[in-house]
Amino acid sequence: MAHNHNHCIEQALHTAETICAEQGQRLTKVRRRALELIWQSHRPLGAYQLLAKLAEEGFNSAPPTVYRALDFLLNAGLIHKVESMNAYLGCAHADKPHKGYFLICDECHNVMEFDYQDIHQALIAKAATQGFELRAETIELTGLCASCRGAKS
Ligand SMILES: [Zn+2]
Ligand SMILES: [Zn+2]
Ligand SMILES: [Zn+2]
Repeated sequence: MAHNHNHCIEQALHTAETICAEQGQRLTKVRRRALELIWQSHRPLGAYQLLAKLAEEGFNSAPPTVYRALDFLLNAGLIHKVESMNAYLGCAHADKPHKGYFLICDECHNVMEFDYQDIHQALIAKAATQGFELRAETIELTGLCASCRGAKS
C-alpha cells in the first residue's frame, strides 16, 4: 500500500484522543503506546508481540496490564481483533462504530477492512428467515491484495 503511513498513525491517535475525551476516559501512556504499536503497520499485531515490545520500552508489561489495555482499545472501537490471526488491527473508522469485516492478504499479511453495510443487512435478513438472531459475525476473507497482485503480473 503506497501511502504515507505516518498520516494513518497520526489520524488514529487523534481519533483516539477525541473518543477518550468524549467518553470521559483517559488515554493512558500504556494504552496510547499499545495503540501506536498496533498501528506500526497494516499487519495485525499479536498480544505477545505487543507485550514484548512494551517490555523492551520499559512499560509495565505484565500480561494483565497489556490485556486490560487491549480490552480498553477494543471496547472503544479503536482496534479490532482479527480472529483467524489471533491478532489486533488498528481501525481507521473508530468514530463510526461498526463490526470489522476483513480482507486478509496471504502474501504480505496486510489486512484491510471493507465496507459491509449491505452484507450486514443481508446476513441479518437471511439468518432471520431461519428464526436466528445474529450476535457475532466473523468475516475474514483471504486472498491477494492489489499491490501483491501487481507485483505478480
Ligand atoms: Zn497506513
Ligand atoms: Zn474498523
Ligand atoms: Zn498483499
